[in-house]
Amino acid sequence: MSSTASRDEERLLVVGAGPIGLTAALALRAKGFAVTVLEAEPEGRPRPGSRAIFVHRETLEHLEHMLHGVGWEIAANGLVWSTKRTFWGDKQVYERTYPALDPNVLPHSTNLSQTATEGLLLDACKRAGVEFAWNHRIESVTTSPDGVELTTDQGAVLSSPYVIAADGARSGVRRALRINMEGDRSDNAFVIVDVAEDEANPLRPERIYYYEHPAVEKRNVLLVPFAGGWRCDLQCRPNDDPTQFDSEDGVRRWVARVLPEKYADRVTWVSTYRFLQVVAETFVDEHRRVLLVGEAAHLFAPFGARGMNSGVPDAVVAAAAIRAATDDPSQARPAIEGFNETRREAALYNRDAAGLALAHMQARDLRIRIKRRTAAFLARVGDRSGTWLDSAPYGPRSRAKTDRRGTY
Ligand SMILES: Cc1cc2nc3c(=O)[nH]c(=O)nc-3n(C[C@H](O)[C@H](O)[C@H](O)COP(=O)(O)OP(=O)(O)OC[C@H]3O[C@@H](n4cnc5c(N)ncnc54)[C@H](O)[C@@H]3O)c2cc1C
Repeated sequence: MSSTASRDEERLLVVGAGPIGLTAALALRAKGFAVTVLEAEPEGRPRPGSRAIFVHRETLEHLEHMLHGVGWEIAANGLVWSTKRTFWGDKQVYERTYPALDPNVLPHSTNLSQTATEGLLLDACKRAGVEFAWNHRIESVTTSPDGVELTTDQGAVLSSPYVIAADGARSGVRRALRINMEGDRSDNAFVIVDVAEDEANPLRPERIYYYEHPAVEKRNVLLVPFAGGWRCDLQCRPNDDPTQFDSEDGVRRWVARVLPEKYADRVTWVSTYRFLQVVAETFVDEHRRVLLVGEAAHLFAPFGARGMNSGVPDAVVAAAAIRAATDDPSQARPAIEGFNETRREAALYNRDAAGLALAHMQARDLRIRIKRRTAAFLARVGDRSGTWLDSAPYGPRSRAKTDRRGTY
């Protein structure tokens, strides 16, 4: 890393080079700060699976404001599906096709693997002059009213007036500050599989949700296309042994039943999750010098795509708060507390929204089961209930659509 990085008081430190650390670095650069990102792993480290494939327009807009061209670059690399369909068993209960895209406006969303997005963000950071210190794992954190000292696993001590911690779900920074996560986790497993598209003979790119898919003994299945592949999510029952579905044979069996058979030979990633639904009790340290963002601050079930998409505004608001605190030190504390309140409120909203989506899909509650079945019956006889069946697996729409701060 640069020899000036630990001495220059105006150089700010970001911990973690995942999508949110990279975004935080871009946001700080856009606010005029010098930035170094400290990352535990080496550059080019393998990253797991497609994960945050669904990128909202608000995310693209935020990135575009930080560095001209980045939002458009991500959009150009992604795939926009224009049709979504929902089935109850083998009967379609909902279909919607969106009008053709306006090439002058960023798309409402785009779909690409998180690895591809991270690659584009890393290039953007380098263009913007962000410095990187790979192989620097933060092991301890000391905060004071004047700033932060970080110690790496190699014994280097780095100081900075403010630190943005984007070191993910197992955040060492959060643990060093003794900040707890609050919430629970889904008790049934989801098996998530990526398959590579057959580019010579691709499927129509449609997002399809199946309630009670008949080919997998009535388990729910979500199929989402992204640039170069498909993501297939299977919801296990609470008493299922997930190895039935995530072993090599198990994956091949169910993938060949929900997609054309050839996709069983095209599996690129398999993972099994019980989703945490947790939010940090505070997003800042006692001295208001460390700001937690992204999965260091909150973890949601992915339905509704709220993880990375809400981590991006975390980073935007954190950078603005640090700028305000630095410009007027007499207002530093309220500026950082403003970040804490706004983003924690957003995270609690997103956790609850993802929780509603999970409860709808799991249907443990008799009332939910009755409501779903009634809607499926009515949708088949032409009622508009199919709209609700289509949207409920993603939870209520983000308030970003109506909130002019656009911070959800
Ligand atoms: C199956 C699945 C599907 C998802 N789908 C979506 C979706 O469609 N849309 C969406 O918005 N979100 C989605 N998400 C969530 C998304 O993947 C996360 O929100 C995102 O990865 C969080 O990014 P992050 O930068 O906060 O953390 P991470 O991606 O975990 O990055 C943290 C980085 O910090 C580094 N690090 C860790 N500890 C230290 C340390 N002590 N010192 C230095 N560096 C450290 C790590 O090596 C890593 O590089 C999904 C998640 C899953 C699991």
